[in-house]
Amino acid sequence: MMLPLKDKFHLPDGMIYLDGNSLGPLPVGVNDTLSRAVTDQWGAHLIKGWNVDDWMGQPARVGNMVGRLIGAPDGSVTMGDTLSVKVYQALSAGLQMRPDRKVILSDSGNFPSDLYMAQGLISHLGQGHELRIVDPEDVMDAITDEVAVAMITQVDYRTGRMHDMAAMTAKAHAMGAVMLWDLAHSAGAVPVDIEGCNAEFAVGCTYKYLNGGPGAPAFIYARPDIVPGIAPALSGWLGHDAPFAFEPDYRPAMGIERMRVGTPPVLQMTALEEALKVWEGVDMADVRKASVALCDLFIQQVEARCPGLTLISPRDGTQRGSQVSFAFKNGYAAMQALIARDVIGDFRAPNVMRFGFTPLYIDADDVMRAVEVLEAVIVARLWDDPAYHAKSRVT
Ligand SMILES: *Cc1c(COP(=O)(O)O)cnc(C)c1O
Repeated sequence: MMLPLKDKFHLPDGMIYLDGNSLGPLPVGVNDTLSRAVTDQWGAHLIKGWNVDDWMGQPARVGNMVGRLIGAPDGSVTMGDTLSVKVYQALSAGLQMRPDRKVILSDSGNFPSDLYMAQGLISHLGQGHELRIVDPEDVMDAITDEVAVAMITQVDYRTGRMHDMAAMTAKAHAMGAVMLWDLAHSAGAVPVDIEGCNAEFAVGCTYKYLNGGPGAPAFIYARPDIVPGIAPALSGWLGHDAPFAFEPDYRPAMGIERMRVGTPPVLQMTALEEALKVWEGVDMADVRKASVALCDLFIQQVEARCPGLTLISPRDGTQRGSQVSFAFKNGYAAMQALIARDVIGDFRAPNVMRFGFTPLYIDADDVMRAVEVLEAVIVARLWDDPAYHAKSRVT
């Protein structure tokens, strides 16, 4: 299929949306599907919807759709909760697999919530685990035979720097460690082959490059051969083998369903299921090629036209996810000035202007127009206006 596929999305007229790495836009069809689910399913069927509309089967069905985008076989991915919760579950399961080891390895480019969840789990377990955080460039060397679980986010949310999943997983396994990948900025952005790299766990969210909408449910993958050994940390009733037997004691479901917890968010999941149809017939290799070209063009143009901005993303496209970041002293105000002119990126403290490029709805013309606006903001110091310095709650 030829990219972009702009007519598959509702994009406000005149807006150049370079923030799909944070919240994907609304796919065409989601409005209708959601409104039908509300009226015809919830409204008309009420409780019967769990059966007649198969709400109960949705986490598995949608899990398979996500699975196809990350190279996971059918039946190995389930959906629900948020990414932070899924990190906790996967990490707990990974630690159980290496009871003699006490080190959780991560890197300083990881998203804070993953680190916070690890800290919470460690203090809850009270078994003397250590969260060891190294620089992203040092992860490979830091994977030693002390490491129980390497908990790594493939693409750095701030810089876009990307780890080599196959090489890192191989190193983890050579050292006897369990590999847990966070694919928050990978799923729908770059080709992923989770089965091929043989990692034990992968987790990710669906409101970024998968366009599932704010608060869309997260996904979790566990390698099928290890699933029977997992004792879920969050042993909710929908991860039970027979939820409707209402037994007093927990017994995990046979498959990946054991990583479910409670009632799924049916309406959010319905929005996501429709949103994922966008990917039918799309080859991730084409997406990747276009994404690298868009990012390369943006870097080249910004460096030529916007003095004072320093590239902090890898220059080499093979080392980068689908986003580009520049450091700029007045980055917050400059981003506000850009947003006021309908070029939407975002800001990450302390000084990072972040731009996501999604070839599904961004093309080279958009990149050129965005740089034109950015150049005006920087060269004419349009950011130097008190209105752009007031910080909002979400940056
Ligand atoms: C976006 C992101 C999160 C967010 O977690 P939620 O629980 O969905 O809010 C966590 N980890 C990483 C690596 C992310 O990029």
